[in-house]
Amino acid sequence: MRIIILTSGKYGSRIVNNMAKRGLAPNIVGLYEFPDNLPEFLDEFEDYVPDNLPECDLIVSVGLFGDINMVIPIIASKTNCKSIIIPIHHPQQIPIGLQEEIKAELENIQVIFPKPFCSLKPVGDKYIDKFTILFGQPKVRIEFEEIIKKVEVIRGAPCGSTWFIAENLEGVPVEEAEFVTGDKFHNYPCLASMNTDQLIGDTIMHLAGYKSKEAVKRGLGFAVKTALIDSDACQGGISCDYLCIEVCPTVKIGDDTINIDDNRKAKIDPATCGCCELCLKECPFAAIEMTNDITPLKKSWG
Ligand code: SF4
Ligand code: SF4
Repeated sequence: MRIIILTSGKYGSRIVNNMAKRGLAPNIVGLYEFPDNLPEFLDEFEDYVPDNLPECDLIVSVGLFGDINMVIPIIASKTNCKSIIIPIHHPQQIPIGLQEEIKAELENIQVIFPKPFCSLKPVGDKYIDKFTILFGQPKVRIEFEEIIKKVEVIRGAPCGSTWFIAENLEGVPVEEAEFVTGDKFHNYPCLASMNTDQLIGDTIMHLAGYKSKEAVKRGLGFAVKTALIDSDACQGGISCDYLCIEVCPTVKIGDDTINIDDNRKAKIDPATCGCCELCLKECPFAAIEMTNDITPLKKSWG
């Protein structure tokens, strides 16, 4: 697979360095850096398109902010590219209207905007799915008894945080692993925005942290902290319109965090619950609480 990377700023360069270090270097046929001080609104995108572009299968564009993203369809057309990944790391980076403009310029090319990059999973596209073998939503295999013995990264966050977390989890008591994961994730540190994304109701950095914790919970097979719904108190959508589902940030990025069971009651999946507590505040019947009890997960990776 031939990959062209477009990058800008600290966020972009960290991702490029990690992807090259972890085995993608031979696939990178072009690397183009854009200044991180361009005006948000631009005309004449052609002026910013690099010369002598090679052909490629996949474009990964990391860190470009605002209108400069409109160079991507031009580059895609000049390189005969088939698929494009444009991760979102800041709420104002590429507003929905601009995403639609980019899509409208692309014919027969798959483009996706994972928010954050570490929420990327296979989408049924040949080249994007090949990319997700190594990078995207973190997935780890953990050997443990009372303490964590070994953590193997199967798929890592493109920024490299999963490998950093994995190194720091060895020797940690299993019941502390979720907490240590959150701590190490922030120490790395994640470079996604701490501004609240109004479409999600949470920050993109928090969403990335939830994804790291999800990997560790799935690797262990249990969660030590989660929101939990009391089925007796839950009104099953009557007089509440499932407000819990409506506000859950992880539901908004496509996770199945709150489901409706056969009795129309809401149920929370501890694997993807980020413990943001938004649902607790919104439920009009106080049917949700946080628990620190060990909660086994379903067997699947989800
Ligand atoms: S948990 Fe609360 S908001 Fe959600 S369905 Fe039950 S009663 Fe409604
Ligand atoms: S605490 Fe509630 S709103 Fe937050 S992630 Fe968990 S289920 Fe969703």
